Amino acid sequence: MTTPANKARLILSLRSAGITNITVLSAIERIPREYFVPETFRDQSYENIALPIGYGQTLSQPLVVASMIEALEVNNRVKLLELGTGSGYHASILALLCRRVYTIERHRPLLAEAESRFKKLDLNNITTKAGDGMKGWPEQSPFERISVTAASDSPPSVLLEQLAIGGIMIIPIGGPDRTQVLTKIRRTEQGFDTEDLMKVRFVPLVSGLAEN
Ligand code: SAH
Repeated sequence: MTTPANKARLILSLRSAGITNITVLSAIERIPREYFVPETFRDQSYENIALPIGYGQTLSQPLVVASMIEALEVNNRVKLLELGTGSGYHASILALLCRRVYTIERHRPLLAEAESRFKKLDLNNITTKAGDGMKGWPEQSPFERISVTAASDSPPSVLLEQLAIGGIMIIPIGGPDRTQVLTKIRRTEQGFDTEDLMKVRFVPLVSGLAEN
């Protein structure tokens, strides 16, 4: 069952796993994860596990979502680009913490569902696009933050170019068959500083709009 007790337990387990940022934890607490998961998995909404969302895609494990958001160091002045809207869960939490969230998804039906959740939750600072996120969103760039929720062999150079100087990108690096590492890339005046955060397992970033 999705009870407040389950939610409280999840928040506690995120804290004991090292998520200390209170602003991030309270944003996670405010977004009902059960809105984002298919009916059959609703009773597992507050388990610390990844859940399927259809089209072969998954909603990430809460600890991974929390770690990514904490590492993004967001604030309410930030304009952020997310690649891989999926269910819209991650974007919804980010919308509470950022000035504006731009999010791109290659599966139109997933995007449509996510958009209806944003509306239901009254999140008005999210702009969506059905398309290939690997091209970024040049018209809106540069972005102070870029959050990529699908894995890539290396950071796509198009996205690095759309990151503002002083900006941060979080992206899982690695192929589907080998270990992926959640990577934090900070753009400086001189170039890019890279830091490995944790081992993760994400679906791959796939180019082009899906045919559905
Ligand atoms: N952040 C999502 C979960 C992401 S799963 C959530 O909170 O639910 C990864 C998503 O990335 C999938 O929905 C997949 O379709 C999408 N994706 C993969 N490659 C993409 C690309 N090139 N452009 C846009 N979306 C992409």
